[in-house]
Amino acid sequence: MSSNADMDELYQEIILDHFKNPRHFSELNDDEVLVDEYNPTCGDQIRMTAVVADGVVKDIRYDGHGCAISMASASMMAEAVVGKPVDEARQIIADFVAVMRGEKDSDLAELGDMASLEGVRRYPLRIKCATMSWHAISKAIDKIAT
Ligand code: ZN
Repeated sequence: MSSNADMDELYQEIILDHFKNPRHFSELNDDEVLVDEYNPTCGDQIRMTAVVADGVVKDIRYDGHGCAISMASASMMAEAVVGKPVDEARQIIADFVAVMRGEKDSDLAELGDMASLEGVRRYPLRIKCATMSWHAISKAIDKIAT
């Protein structure tokens, strides 16, 4: 078993990897932006678009800028949600937000890379950094899914 310090270091590496190489990041044209989300306490900003077809989230793309937590969380969110049926996507979103708010204990094995963000719960001002992109995709899905 790893010590807590080893886990913290591993989690830092996972977050930095997503921050430096964000998955599904791509510059959006203004006319394809479904949601524009801003986190004033940190200055994080994200714009998002998504494709839903046949009841499945086929694609998510986003651009923006912000702290490592906000950008890494967006990358992890896109990885977790793309390819999922809308109902399942909504459940993943609700679970993650509940975990970050401390309303629910996480199952680390199920969360995958997202587990690396759990430590953010110790810093209440940063929780919005981690949840911003999840609120954005939730709104985007509401707009396009029937
Ligand atoms: Zn932030």
